Amino acid sequence: MAAERVTRLAVLGSTGSIGVNTLDVVGRNPGRYEIVALTGHRNVKRLAEQCERFRPQYVGLADPAAEPALRAELKARGRVEVEVVVGQAGLAELAALTEVDCVVAGIVGAAGLLPTLAAAEAGKRILLANKEVLVMAGDLFMRAVKASGAVLLPVDSEHNAIFQCLPSHYAAAGLQGSGIRRLLLTASGGPFRTRSAQELIGVTPEEACAHPNWVMGRKISVDSASMMNKGLELIEACFLFATEPARVDVVIHPQSIIHSMVEYADGSVLAQLGNPDMRTPIAHALAWPERIESGVESLDLCKVIGGLHFEAPDQQRFPCLRLAYAAAEQGGSACAVLNAANEIAVAAF
Ligand code: NAD
Ligand code: MG
Repeated sequence: MAAERVTRLAVLGSTGSIGVNTLDVVGRNPGRYEIVALTGHRNVKRLAEQCERFRPQYVGLADPAAEPALRAELKARGRVEVEVVVGQAGLAELAALTEVDCVVAGIVGAAGLLPTLAAAEAGKRILLANKEVLVMAGDLFMRAVKASGAVLLPVDSEHNAIFQCLPSHYAAAGLQGSGIRRLLLTASGGPFRTRSAQELIGVTPEEACAHPNWVMGRKISVDSASMMNKGLELIEACFLFATEPARVDVVIHPQSIIHSMVEYADGSVLAQLGNPDMRTPIAHALAWPERIESGVESLDLCKVIGGLHFEAPDQQRFPCLRLAYAAAEQGGSACAVLNAANEIAVAAF
């Protein structure tokens, strides 16, 4: 079905894994989306290549020191007319532009907070991948969304799966009013799922980033290996779906075919399945409530190696999950502290 009008996009973090996948989906749906703004940190070569292909009006660069290099790359590609803005404030400006309808929040970590909050305050449609925004400032962010009438759509695969399994009236009725007993977040268990506590002592960043099912940026890959990612996602789910941590359970599912589930009062459990490829949730959120091509192959259930398995998470070997439950239950600034401590620990690792 052809869209009635073109959706004008700002892609924050376009040079990262989420950003590149977003542009891949956009490229498969010509005429439906227009790229107004792209942003990156300091990968000027990739940013300039993206400007050459997608012809945005604006490009945002988080690191001002990289501006001369970006201008040189743009010049080499005949794209000198692109307006370059720099720094956090520049990125926030792009997220709030009147000529932007929809903002893809694909920056990693706390650096994404101000630009994503600017999009919320400006009432944009927000495709949220940057889960740290909700972990560090969930109350503030959700209030801004409500006040401006922004539309918040989850891109994180688990939350997107849950969103797809919820009834259309859930936003007004709430989880309990919709007859929902609990949300079930699936977790792959990461590359260290079967390692003993002793074996975990000597692991390297390279091993941590070799995720069995997903290709992602390095920070989220390390978070997946420590299972802090699932902890952050628990907090993310509480804010997105206005629920308490006791109603969110985590189940390990090493094949990553079921992306999460919703259990109803009558015992029904609805799941969203598919190949583990972020282009599915990105395409879903881009087109919602319509559907578009994402480039993701059909799921062949007969070829899923070893079948679909489930196990309980081990909170002794993976204490980050336990810490995240404790922070979520405590509320206040505990989640912001958890997020900050984690970002510093991951960077040090
Ligand atoms: P990535 O490292 O591949 O990309 C991060 C992007 O953020 C890049 O464009 C980078 O230039 C930009 N960036 C980095 N530091 C910045 C700074 N200080 N200021 C401004 N921009 C900066 O990360 P990713 O894997 O694409 O993840 C992005 C977000 O999406 C994370 O919050 C992650 O948890 C979430 N997410 C990712 C995936 C995935 O499959 N990659 C899945 C679910 C959720
Ligand atoms: Mg996820």
